[in-house]
Amino acid sequence: MKVLVPVKRVIDYNIKVRVRADGSGVDLDNAKMAMNPFDEIAVEEAVRLKEAGQVSEIVAVSCGIAACQETLRAALALGADRAVLVNTDVELQPLAVAKLLKGLCEREQPALVICGKQAIDDDSNQTGQMLAALLDCGQATFASKVKVEGGSVIVTREVDGGLETLSLELPAVITTDLRLNEPRYATLPNIMKAKKKLLDTLTPADLGVDVAPRLKTLKVVEPPIRKAGEIVPDIATLVSKLKNQAKVI
Ligand code: AMP
Repeated sequence: MKVLVPVKRVIDYNIKVRVRADGSGVDLDNAKMAMNPFDEIAVEEAVRLKEAGQVSEIVAVSCGIAACQETLRAALALGADRAVLVNTDVELQPLAVAKLLKGLCEREQPALVICGKQAIDDDSNQTGQMLAALLDCGQATFASKVKVEGGSVIVTREVDGGLETLSLELPAVITTDLRLNEPRYATLPNIMKAKKKLLDTLTPADLGVDVAPRLKTLKVVEPPIRKAGEIVPDIATLVSKLKNQAKVI
């Protein structure tokens, strides 16, 4: 069984994001970039399924600029077998990514696609769902447990008030939640081995996809600066301030 894992290159989650002076977006100049954390979880899950003998091949794919190769090498170091870069300088929106992934699924015929639930840069939470719709296959979002059983995958999802368990026929699309697993760190020997693994490059045209943006960003602004807090001497003053000044109790 083959698994496709889409991995996105995003600004590192430890970096404090700065908005460009002209309000056109986030300033990525010289910013540290990394694999989207939910995609690390997706790679880890695929590797665990392979270690359990349920998966034969893991293909990592990233869509974007040439630098996404670093993200793919990171996925290869974590255990993916080979990688595909869909190379474009166009800023990709979720629908474009979903169409590219659909094109790749038609070529690769994976039984399972494991996406992250959302990319931490655009917070769209759309690509996996759109891909499942385009492929006309089952989807289970926000997976916290995944089990492959014959021709199906059993997925547990955390929902309000409990756990929901779904059974999907393969092929299917899953998106990962934070609690699915704890990704491993890449070891130095695996980082070295990853340099020798196959990394193919395609273009959107190879997959017959028009990636032109459908949405226009009008403005990006910094959140308002929070006012400094105040230290109160005792609880009575706190209660009085909450009642008379803030008027919240
Ligand atoms: P989003 O819908 O943008 O929040 O992204 C959800 C998931 O789709 C991510 O966690 C990735 O697994 C996948 N994805 C989104 N954009 C890309 C991209 N440019 N390349 C590869 N995978 C992507």
